[in-house]
Amino acid sequence: MKTISTKKELRLALSLAAERGENSGLVPTMGALHNGHLSLIKRAIEENSLAIVSIFVNPSQFNDKKDLENYPRDNDKDLSMLGELLRKNDIVFLPEVDEMYPGEESISYDFGKLDKVLEGAHRPGHFNGVAQIVSKLLELVQADNAYFGEKDLQQLLIIKKLVGQMDCRTNIIPCPIIREKDGLAMSSRNILLSPEEREQATAISRSLFEAAEMQDKLNPQGTRVQVIKKIERAKGLELEYFEIADGEDLNPVMNWEDAGNIFALIAVRLGKVRLIDNIRLK
Ligand code: AMP
Repeated sequence: MKTISTKKELRLALSLAAERGENSGLVPTMGALHNGHLSLIKRAIEENSLAIVSIFVNPSQFNDKKDLENYPRDNDKDLSMLGELLRKNDIVFLPEVDEMYPGEESISYDFGKLDKVLEGAHRPGHFNGVAQIVSKLLELVQADNAYFGEKDLQQLLIIKKLVGQMDCRTNIIPCPIIREKDGLAMSSRNILLSPEEREQATAISRSLFEAAEMQDKLNPQGTRVQVIKKIERAKGLELEYFEIADGEDLNPVMNWEDAGNIFALIAVRLGKVRLIDNIRLK
């Protein structure tokens, strides 16, 4: 694999790859890699002759400065994991902040209601920051395919919308959530949990699995109320939201027949750590 830290070097490597007739797959990450990331990367390798993995903790998507400071970073470990997976010509793009944001960032995006609910409501400015960095990466790499996890479902929907607005040729490929054996969705933030919080965190995915079971007996709002009651009784968990929503626009649904895709989405805090998860109910 090649490790590249400047846009100039990356453009050169990509133009040489284009001359060789390679098709390319981009996997944007913020590092502290785990098997969730690796599943996206493996898919990019399978489906493209050139894979580009970016590792960049994007400051503009953090609404909380402390969260940015505490975000886990381990480039050495990431590079050794990638070294085992990537092929000779595959690229790891590891830019510094100044390389991605050389000047003031003034662009703001309009995603209608989609960036105002759920994560958008609890993390003001978060999706604008996500859109800034993802649009930069998509423009820079001009990949055939880009891989994003369904773990961040709202982000995935926003990126699909962004690509439409940018008139970008890259296909956005959604990838399923990878979980730990006990159900906890893999996340770079999981390593910030104390052993006790790690144990308590299993209640997050459990609440989603329970919602999936309740749907035969209860309507969406009844399910929501029951699940919220359970989460509020769970030790250590501070609930930010639990919603049952249309998988296209994330509007709350009243009946199971109201939408083709219905998801339960959750965000909780355990001490200082904020975790999100979701499950497809229908
Ligand atoms: P992050 O480094 O957290 O920004 O994540 C980079 C990409 O990996 C995003 O597209 C995430 O949705 C995806 N991702 C993170 N965790 C998981 C997981 N447990 N399963 C599948 N994809 C994931």
